Amino acid sequence: MSETPNGRLWVIGTGPGPDHWMTPETTAILEAATDLVGYLPYVSRCPERPGQIRHASDNRVELDRARHALEMAAAGHRVAVVSGGDPGVFAMAAAVMEAIDHGPATWRVLDVTVHPGVSAMQAAAARLGAPLGADFCAISLSDNLKPWEVVARRLEVAAMVDFVIALYNPASEARPRQIYDAFALLRGIKAPDTVVIFARAVGRPDERITVTTLADADPRLVDMATCVIIGNSATRRIERRGGQEPWVYSPRSIAAD
Ligand code: SAH
Repeated sequence: MSETPNGRLWVIGTGPGPDHWMTPETTAILEAATDLVGYLPYVSRCPERPGQIRHASDNRVELDRARHALEMAAAGHRVAVVSGGDPGVFAMAAAVMEAIDHGPATWRVLDVTVHPGVSAMQAAAARLGAPLGADFCAISLSDNLKPWEVVARRLEVAAMVDFVIALYNPASEARPRQIYDAFALLRGIKAPDTVVIFARAVGRPDERITVTTLADADPRLVDMATCVIIGNSATRRIERRGGQEPWVYSPRSIAAD
């Protein structure tokens, strides 16, 4: 397959849901692309354009999908690889880089660019106030790509050094148990009154935000559309009136011992 100078590959993220959380740059790329490549629900959220071809696939074939996109770009197509949220956060940018790393040398001279998007944890945090205001980490609970022992060890260490923790991919129909195991592990390390946030489908019509404590957190409220945020020892609630969920923030300052 010969490379043509007009081929191009954009790696984009459409944000957590609504169009107004999609960057203007991403909107412009979706208009310019001849081909969209991505997991079906993300691709189907993009506006339809006459002549634009959609290559939607299953969620578990990220590397194949990245290679397919690179092959099309090498053949002269203008391809957008579409993720939800930010493409660099548990999404397609890493798969595209991995495909280039292990792929033919010709892929290294292709015009490939990665464009930032709003990630789910940012949208969730904004709804609540500032729960990610202090040092935090993001952990994917999915063990499709790494052993559960690695996930558990990272959770344990993150809890021990008092990071605020954002959990992605907390549960799916194929993996209902992980979030139970994660809470059991965290309950052994962190205080029972630690703030826990379930931010489900943030920005979408079925959004549901729940603020609770580690002691009361009910894993049944968690599904694949949920980002779970677990506070650090200083994360605080500010109660509000009128049935609104409280504000939650993690202060930036920590007193010296
Ligand atoms: N690249 C995406 C994350 C992909 S992993 C991003 O930056 O947001 C998919 C996980 O993201 C889901 O299991 C869920 O944990 C989280 N997620 C995606 N959209 C969400 C939304 N609107 N509300 C809450 N969590 C969301």
